[in-house]
Amino acid sequence: MPSPLTGNVPIVALRARIDAVRARVADAARAAGRDPRGVRVLLATKTQDAATVLAAVEAAWDGERPVLLGENRVQELTAKAPALAGLVADGRVETHLIGHLQRNKVNAALATASCVQTVDSLALAAALASRCERDGRVLDVMVQVNVSGEPTKAGVGPHEAPHLACEVAALAGLRLTGLMTIGARSDDAALVSAGFARLRAIRDDVVASGAPGTAQARELSMGMTGDLELAVAQGATIVRVGTAVFGPR
Ligand SMILES: *Cc1c(COP(=O)(O)O)cnc(C)c1O
Repeated sequence: MPSPLTGNVPIVALRARIDAVRARVADAARAAGRDPRGVRVLLATKTQDAATVLAAVEAAWDGERPVLLGENRVQELTAKAPALAGLVADGRVETHLIGHLQRNKVNAALATASCVQTVDSLALAAALASRCERDGRVLDVMVQVNVSGEPTKAGVGPHEAPHLACEVAALAGLRLTGLMTIGARSDDAALVSAGFARLRAIRDDVVASGAPGTAQARELSMGMTGDLELAVAQGATIVRVGTAVFGPR
């Protein structure tokens, strides 16, 4: 029977799997001539219960940098928020929304998310920004780009992305920290890599634009269990990992 403190996956197993993911990231970074510390691992916790998430945070905590957690649905973020509130307040945890945000869930997202990685329209950005301004706070956001063009994927198209990113960066109440994408669903490594390279090129254009609020927008959230090496090779600064840590869903 699983212990109530550790959920379904024992903490020693979580620690071993997180270490293995970090080793994959570090190997990929060194192979690309990058500093491994320039890539953070976000734990994608969808469908995991609060006890498992808490155990994963304990396993991942390095005593220094906040553990990044990502949820796809606002409801799940809200459900786990009470268990995480103390860790968020202590700066040990950041909660990122990595799934599509509907505008009628903006208030609930703002109550719990440290960062919304999935801004894909000016209307959504404006809704977030106006509430943040009213509350006298600043929310970290990323613009989600659909680099693969797959119709099932959310995100703004690559051609519109630089313009949207600059518009979002200019909004008071928001701080644009970078761009996010989900890689092409393909076994063709060259195709997947080309999508990640595209996101990096868009990021470089946005930062080079000199538009207000874009200078710090350097994060590239890209790469998951199956393609994180390709993403790190193309400049990922955050990889989002679920399966490699929590097992198949
Ligand atoms: C589930 C999910 C991940 C993690 O995917 P794995 O393949 O399980 O590592 C990353 N990003 C997003 C947006 C997800 O929904």
